[in-house]
Amino acid sequence: NDWSLSDKNVYDWSSEEEEPDGRARPIQVLLVKDDHTFELDEAALSRILLSEEVRDREVVAISVAGAFRKGKSFLMDFMLRYMYNHASENWLGNPEEPLTGFSWRGGSERETTGIQIWSEVFLVDKPDGRKVAVLLMDTQGTFDSQSTLRDSATVFALSTMISSMQVYNISQNVQEDDLQHLQLFTEYGRLAMEETFLKPFQSMIFLVRDWSFPYEFPYGQEGGMKFLEKRLKISENQHEELQNVRKHIHSCFTNISCFLMPHPGLKVATNPLFDGRIKEIDGEFINNLKVLVPWLLSPRNIDVKEINGSKITCRGLLEYFKAYIKIYQG
Ligand code: GDP
Ligand code: MG
Repeated sequence: NDWSLSDKNVYDWSSEEEEPDGRARPIQVLLVKDDHTFELDEAALSRILLSEEVRDREVVAISVAGAFRKGKSFLMDFMLRYMYNHASENWLGNPEEPLTGFSWRGGSERETTGIQIWSEVFLVDKPDGRKVAVLLMDTQGTFDSQSTLRDSATVFALSTMISSMQVYNISQNVQEDDLQHLQLFTEYGRLAMEETFLKPFQSMIFLVRDWSFPYEFPYGQEGGMKFLEKRLKISENQHEELQNVRKHIHSCFTNISCFLMPHPGLKVATNPLFDGRIKEIDGEFINNLKVLVPWLLSPRNIDVKEINGSKITCRGLLEYFKAYIKIYQG
């Protein structure tokens, strides 16, 4: 019961081919196969990152990661809409228009673990006059059994290493195992990177979906920050393990924040014919979406990817991507 099942929107693609109609689409650049090996579509990734308009631009890489069926692609599609409408006041557009983008892949398809990148890199003018390239990444993991947890850890680690902002999409609450997963994933990443005195990663956003305690911590970023502070607090009477998870997370990211999102309503969650139109989404969700997406993506909020303190271009990101994957391919 995937809302993206609507026939007209499911189109076939293979990352080996150019899109037949020239339209932008998600490209599976990294795929974890059944035998737990990684397949990188280097040609596709190069096509995206080395295209003439973007290759020498500093890159902002935004990634959304987390388990399946928790609304990541749904959110990414709103991010695309914001980018395509040039961050305008009315970026949400027509309330009757179906949502398109990352989600339009067959819902019956087997769930894959890997990284998809939107084939179009967006050029954005920062308020300081610099033009930067914005890359959107959708990441999938399974997080269920031991063997797939390792695959997911690698995918999460890679996407964290190459992004300037990682959105960790989680359902309902920040549980202890969400934090443990994050520790495992970032440890995977940190091991693969050069030792440096700088924190290895940039921004981490805990995005809590279907938050249902707004009377304790209100929806949005401020409520999120207060909630997260409480969750990540280190205290002396805590078990050492709990303390370590928290210390680790603090030591990995330059910025950590949190946003509490309301439930989008039953049509979104359960109706297989729902096609993403805003009209059928709960108003409270839309109101928070109007805050969340510009908070993540507005030209003044986006940060260029840095590695060891240096700003990275699209061309540089491609090199890092290839180098990091080699490490995991062993
Ligand atoms: P992904 O696998 O994480 O990319 O999840 P999808 O974006 O494909 O969404 C999976 C299902 O969850 C779809 O049926 C969506 O309509 C629904 N969905 C999207 N956002 C939310 C949300 O915030 N809460 C709930 N409960 N369902 C959502
Ligand atoms: Mg998805």
